[in-house]
Amino acid sequence: MVRSLAQWTKTLSFPSRISPNKNSKENVNTVSPTVTPTISSNSLSPPCLKNNEINNIMNESHLTSELSQIYPDPDSEKSIMSSVVYCIHHKEGCKWSDELRKLKAHLNTCKHDAKPCTSNCGAQIPRVLMEDHLKYTCPLRRARCEFCTKDFTGESLENHIGNCGYEPIYCENKCGLKIQRRLLGQHKGGDCFKRLVACRYCKKDFVADTMAAHHTKCGRVPVACPNRCETTGLVREDMELHMKDQCTTSLLCCAFKDAGCRFKGPRYSIEKHLEENSPHHLTLMCSLVTKQQHQIASLKSALSRLSLNYSGTLIWKVSDFSAKMAEAKTKEGMELVSPPFYTSQYGYKLQASLFPNGNGAGEDSHISVYIKILPGEYDALLRWPFAHSVSFTLFDQSTSPEKACNIMESFIPDPTWKNFQRPSKEPDSLGFGFPRFVSHEMLKKRHFMKDDTMFVRVKVDPSKIVAV
Ligand SMILES: [Zn+2]
Ligand SMILES: [Zn+2]
Ligand SMILES: [Zn+2]
Ligand SMILES: [Zn+2]
Ligand SMILES: [Zn+2]
Ligand SMILES: [Zn+2]
Ligand SMILES: [Zn+2]
Repeated sequence: MVRSLAQWTKTLSFPSRISPNKNSKENVNTVSPTVTPTISSNSLSPPCLKNNEINNIMNESHLTSELSQIYPDPDSEKSIMSSVVYCIHHKEGCKWSDELRKLKAHLNTCKHDAKPCTSNCGAQIPRVLMEDHLKYTCPLRRARCEFCTKDFTGESLENHIGNCGYEPIYCENKCGLKIQRRLLGQHKGGDCFKRLVACRYCKKDFVADTMAAHHTKCGRVPVACPNRCETTGLVREDMELHMKDQCTTSLLCCAFKDAGCRFKGPRYSIEKHLEENSPHHLTLMCSLVTKQQHQIASLKSALSRLSLNYSGTLIWKVSDFSAKMAEAKTKEGMELVSPPFYTSQYGYKLQASLFPNGNGAGEDSHISVYIKILPGEYDALLRWPFAHSVSFTLFDQSTSPEKACNIMESFIPDPTWKNFQRPSKEPDSLGFGFPRFVSHEMLKKRHFMKDDTMFVRVKVDPSKIVAV
């Protein structure tokens, strides 16, 4: 192929400003594109040609002989060789500019001049990049794996990295350890403390380093019966049931434990114990019942203390009166007593009594009513003799209260009477009152009795004035 000089001049730039021939029109004309000699294909080349081709072209004698064919005139040739040109790598940044004859020498040192890789990888590498290429990117460079220290060519090292068995990498179980790749499988299956392991008892998976903690509570861990019974194959989660219902040697208490029997024995011996100890158990039960009776009594008194009347007025409901009267007629001196009541919270403790069939002067004809002074909690602080007036009222239970006509009797205590002195622990059985309070005849009249019930009010008044 034949290239024109125009192509040649495209490759070589002629800076007109610094050209030594810029004043010589003739010389300029000698390289003018208007002159179109032909040269052989290996003489001149555009910048796309490989460097070795350029080298061939730039072989000075070769070029000279070529040019001598084109320009037989040695003066023209000299003139051309003296033309000032830029480096063929001008566009890539080379600032070199000088006579054409010196281009060859420049290209040997031009940093932008590409050269074949000296390791013969076949790549063209700009001189400036050659060192980097040989060190880092040349596929034929010699390189050593830092982990296994084997030598590789650059290309095979790239394949090797990421596969090297000696490279330490983090364990995928996140145990935090770095393990050589070749040992990782062994680590993950063996000594990695974050590997999943199945509990040998319950078969569930746990992280290896939590297994010890799991075993302390795993329900399927075999345990021995603390009573050393002969049961085998007991596991932790069944132990409670075993101790409660199944263990033959677990000690049970006698059913009469709460009554005081201290017997304890294995399940099988309990029945025998019960059979043989009936009298003992009966004795225990009796004393328990007695104890409980005392408790009940003390509870009752505590309860009555709570419900005590401190108002000084007692309304006494006497029900089933006809039965009580019948009983009184056959039983001499039968007395009904009222619940105790107080004249005030810290006052005298009193109790009313009623003889349905009368007493003393009223016997067999009247009901008699009395008041008794009982030993009270605060007697030591009270005035003696007792001096409050006392009134008894039998209510007429008429449906219209305005027509009602109650019966009332009252008295002011006589300070000389023994009944009104401070009572001893064993008070007199009789109090003070009215043996002929209401006659049996009168009781049947009006509405004193209704539904076989009568109401008697006992009112204590500290003012001594007899209430009306
Ligand atoms: Zn250059
Ligand atoms: Zn290379
Ligand atoms: Zn390696
Ligand atoms: Zn690990
Ligand atoms: Zn388990
Ligand atoms: Zn057991
Ligand atoms: Zn017992």
